[in-house]
Formats: sequence, C-alpha cells, structure tokens
Amino acid sequence: MNQGIEKKLTIYNTLSRTKETFEPLHPPFVGMYVCGPTVYSDVHLGNCRTFISFDMIFRYLLHLGYKVRYVRNITDAGHLEGDRDEGDDKFAKRAKLEQLEPMEIVQKYTLGFHKVMALFNILPPSIEPTATGHILEQIEMIKKIIDEGLAYEVEGSIYFDVEKYSQKYDYGQLTNRKLEDLLEGTRELDGQDEKRGRLDFALWIKAKPETLMQWPSPWGWGFPGWHIECSAMSTKYLGTTFDIHGGGMDLQATHHTNEIAQSNACNHTAPAKYWMHTNMLTVNGVRMSKTAGNGFLPQELFTGDHPLLERGYSPMTVRFFMAQSHYRSTLDFSNEALQAAEKGYKKLMESLSVLEKLSPSPSSSVNITELEESCYAAMNDDFNSPVLIANLFDAVRFINSVNDKKETLSATDLERLKKLMHAFIFDVLGLRDESKNIGGNDLIEGLMNLIIDIRKSARENKEWATSDKIRDELKAVGVEIKDTKEGVEWRL
Ligand code: AMP
Ligand code: ZN
Repeated sequence: MNQGIEKKLTIYNTLSRTKETFEPLHPPFVGMYVCGPTVYSDVHLGNCRTFISFDMIFRYLLHLGYKVRYVRNITDAGHLEGDRDEGDDKFAKRAKLEQLEPMEIVQKYTLGFHKVMALFNILPPSIEPTATGHILEQIEMIKKIIDEGLAYEVEGSIYFDVEKYSQKYDYGQLTNRKLEDLLEGTRELDGQDEKRGRLDFALWIKAKPETLMQWPSPWGWGFPGWHIECSAMSTKYLGTTFDIHGGGMDLQATHHTNEIAQSNACNHTAPAKYWMHTNMLTVNGVRMSKTAGNGFLPQELFTGDHPLLERGYSPMTVRFFMAQSHYRSTLDFSNEALQAAEKGYKKLMESLSVLEKLSPSPSSSVNITELEESCYAAMNDDFNSPVLIANLFDAVRFINSVNDKKETLSATDLERLKKLMHAFIFDVLGLRDESKNIGGNDLIEGLMNLIIDIRKSARENKEWATSDKIRDELKAVGVEIKDTKEGVEWRL
C-alpha cells in the first residue's frame, strides 16, 4: 500500500445512503464489477461518462496500492426493449435492420466500444466477460433459484417470484422503497401475462421459432434475461460477495435491485458490500439516452458534426469536462462548458511544461505537503475530482509564481511537486497530454524538434526570411512557436 500521508478513503454506498470508510473484504485485493455496455449500437457520451467515472475510481484504487480485479461485462444477448424484460430483442432487431448476423452486430459494436474507450484513455478492465460466453453459468444459477423455491416455470420461461422472495428479504432496499410503492409503479397484469406477480422478472425466456440467438436449457430452447448475466459473471469471477458493484443510476431500480435478489436467492448472500452509482449526463436537462435520440456519439463530438455542437472538442477536453463534476452529480452538456474545459485542460498541460523547466532554490516558500494532503483529501472524500482539480489549479498558481521568481521551491520539493502533478493528472484523472504523442510514437514531437533545430540554425546564420517562413507556415497549420528565455516552445 502507498505509504506516507494518511489515506482514508470514504465511498458513498447507495445501500446505506451514507459515506462509509472503505474497508475491502480481503485487503489488499479489491473486487469491482461494473455493468458494461449493451453492444447492439454505438455507445453515446452518457455511457462514456459512467465508464470514465469508474475508470477514475479504478485508477485511484490502483494508485493507493490496492490490487484490483475490475470486471466490466459486455451485454451481447438477452436484452429486451421494455424495462421489465418485455418487447423485442434489441440485438435481433438491429441484426435485421443492418442485415447482419447477431454476432456480427456484437463484434462490430464491441470493437467500436473498445476504440472509444482507448480514445478516452480508459484502462481496459481485468476481465471483460460476455453474456453469450456464460450461458451455462446463468442456467446453473437459475436452476438453484428454482430449487430454492423462488422462481417458477411457465411454458418454457422462468420468472423470479418477487412476492415470495419479499417474505424473507427486502426487495426494495437499494432504492429505499417499500414493496407496495414499487407495485404501484407497475401496470396491472392482464390475461396475456405469463408471470404471476407484477414485479416478477424473467430469468429465462422461451425462444420463438424466429428467435435468432437461442440456447438449449432444461426448460427448452431460449435465452437468458438481462439481469441474470451480471449475477452469474460477478459470482464466477469475484465470488459470491465482493467489494464494489457499480453502474449508472438508471440501473439502480431494476437491474441492480434484481441482481441483489438473484444473489440472495441463489448464494444466500448479498453480492456487493458497496454499491456505487454514477449520475447521468444530460442535454438541456434531459438524460442522454439511446432511445431519447439526444445521444452524441463520441465521434460527432470530436468532429463537431452535430446540430447541437458549435465545433469539435478533443477527447481529453471531454474527459477533463467530465472530471470537473463529481460522479454523483448530474452533468449537463453545453458548448460553453466544453469551451471552458478546453481552456482549463490546456492551462493544466502548459503548467506541466513550465514545471519541467523550473530551477530549484536553496529553500521553499510554498508548502508542498499541504498541497499533497488536500489532493488526497479530495479523492478520499468519495472520489471528489472537482475539488482535486481546484487543488491542482492552486498548484498551477504556485508553478507560475515560482516561474515568475515570486516564490521558491527547493530541489526536493520540486521533485515532489512533479511527482504529485503527474500522479494526479495522468495516473488518477487519466488525462493525456494531447500536444505530445499525437499519432503515437512521439512522431509529431520528433518532427517539431527537427523543424525547431532548422529554424535555430537559420537564425544563427541570420537567415531571417527562412526563420520567419518556418514560424508563419507552422502557424498556418495551427502550430504556434514562441521564443522564451529557456528556449523555443511550441503548442497546437
Ligand atoms: P447501456 O449500454 O445502455 O446498458 O448503458 C451502459 C452504461 O451507461 C450503464 O451503466 C448506464 O447506466 C450508463 N448510462 C446510460 N445513459 C447514461 C447517461 N446519460 N449518463 C451517464 N451514464 C449513462
Ligand atoms: Zn449488470
């Protein structure tokens, strides 16, 4: 574990509705499960917000020295349209629309998802299991729930019996709602319904002759319900009880509530100690979603090719924009907010270049320990990234003051400050310096060094026309070069 400053992490637990001190079940190991994407279409920026938030949480746990097994699944089967497993299979619908095999749809959108994750510098999870790869585990779990008397079969489909479950467990514990209130929010059953109770949900769904993805089971050919996949895969890779289970807030009332019920029914234990939920990205106050039609695709955001976008924004501007709000607050998308984030991100990156060039003094006039403590305090307070960013901007002010010779830093403190800034900006917030390493392999950096060298020789030989031409033509393609006391600086 990371030694030094006292590090007491608190996490807001949806289950207890309080901030709790983080005490992993088997330190230094941490098991974390996050509900991943449904890969029948492109991920939108709202989905990305949830994955970026959990990436930051994963990164901070790693930074603290925990050995994290991070499982994030891919939902590639069994996802029906209605909230409660009703309507058409989304994969089949898309397969018909695009005239592809369902597994071609899965492959296409999984690859797209990975590309977007890489653009946002999101670390890959330790395990990324798929629903279709775990049909046997899901069937075994359903069998156990039936044996416990908490699920029943109707014509080849299996339903979870919420009423019977509620005699022993609190079904509404995650949302703090009573069963009667939950029932009120559901529609009356009619003669068409197979299920016995209004809150009952499908564990296994009988296939129709035209169902594209179906598997054999003890109840005939069919496919699993959505909720059982996460219970089966989290149990397989993290055990019956693990540390953190996460996802977007929209999953709390149904998907996660049902996961808890399935685990209690099958394993006689609640699946996770801490439940974490990220809040929604909204557009003009409306939740961004696949169905609302207000979902920007990350590509559209980068190119600016969308009626609501004034121009494009880079992946790191977007990541910084997201980090500026706490993961439990809603975040509303606007061009102004993104433009402000772009400025903030650039300022932070520029300060790192200044920091690299600072010269040490015999003593320090600024307190690095205090700064370090406030950075950890922010992140330990339920991963409060906006407060962390405010602290990092205090550091930017220090750096500029030292550069302007108004403050001083000793050699040791200078090294500590560099380490601190790099750790929080790159390792924890997961930002990248986009002015460097464009196209990988530091190609642009190498080319720029070459051009700057040629310009330097031109100036030494008093070939002013050449040196001006280099500066002007670079400017025309969006690269600014500046002569400073320390040498030549450039930026995009
Ligand atoms: P889906 O592919 O729709 O199942 O969503 C994948 C993840 O994105 C889930 O954890 C959702 O809760 C989350 N999510 C969906 N919409 C939003 C949104 N507008 N803001 C933040 N997270 C979202
Ligand atoms: Zn899930």
